[in-house]
Amino acid sequence: MKVRCSGELALIDWMRKHCVCSSAVKTGIGDDTAVLPLNTREDLLLTTDLLVEGTHFTKSTLPHLVGRKALARNLSDIAAMGGTPTCAVVSLGLPTNTPTTYVRKVYQGLNRLAKAFSVSIVGGDTVKSRTFVINIALLGRVAKGRAILRSGARVGDHIFVSGCLGGSLKSDRHLTFTPRIAHAQYLLKNFCPTAMIDISDGLAGDLGHLLEESRVGAVIDEEKIPLHRGASLKAGLYDGEDFELLFTVRPNQADKLLKQNNKSFFRIGAIIKDQNKLYVRQKNDDIRLIPAQGFTHF
Ligand SMILES: [Mg+2]
Repeated sequence: MKVRCSGELALIDWMRKHCVCSSAVKTGIGDDTAVLPLNTREDLLLTTDLLVEGTHFTKSTLPHLVGRKALARNLSDIAAMGGTPTCAVVSLGLPTNTPTTYVRKVYQGLNRLAKAFSVSIVGGDTVKSRTFVINIALLGRVAKGRAILRSGARVGDHIFVSGCLGGSLKSDRHLTFTPRIAHAQYLLKNFCPTAMIDISDGLAGDLGHLLEESRVGAVIDEEKIPLHRGASLKAGLYDGEDFELLFTVRPNQADKLLKQNNKSFFRIGAIIKDQNKLYVRQKNDDIRLIPAQGFTHF
């Protein structure tokens, strides 16, 4: 079977079952980052992301934005665990006719964001390639046992997002977004989210991942989904690359969170029992079941 038929999720499921993984690993394949024991106080987070010309950016995308995006996506995954990023390695696949100024500009964008988030670039690799490819692996840390997983949502929890959704690709926000590290650390310190993920494949798809790992379902209110100007409800549900945080908190924390931060966090729904079922409550109060699926990579 070809990957375009099996799809990305079936491949990841296969990897999860078949990859070598020691019992010392706290969280392996299937969350925003891996979680590994570091010392008596902290756990280590590890994530990686691959960007390919023609898939994640085009030939005409400004090179400093390519470098920026490559690191920002990784930072977003560290944010989704409630972590602090520390250092990264950067690998490039380069066509031989790539101007060296292009590579320098990629690193300019990357370095600027690395500096803003106190990330050190500590290594990498360069190889010949047919198209321009950039891969970053990023380490982070989090207080021991405090990483926020996708699997912790419980029936009755309220569902929140950290900002407006929809139209990221059309508006080029996917190149310039701010990874929600500060929001995530604030949440970890003050509200103990039960589960969290960053929205990379679209609200419906990423909520689907969270529901699957937590073995629960959800109802979201279509009127409560915060949309970017000009974005339709469909774009808010299914567009990828918004990189906002999607998280759940216990009902007794939800009102307090809203009272203190009604401009940064938006309550969009609640967790219910029906495993893997995603319902949308429409304006007229009707409830419809929608596919908990997002962007498909193949
Ligand atoms: Mg993620």
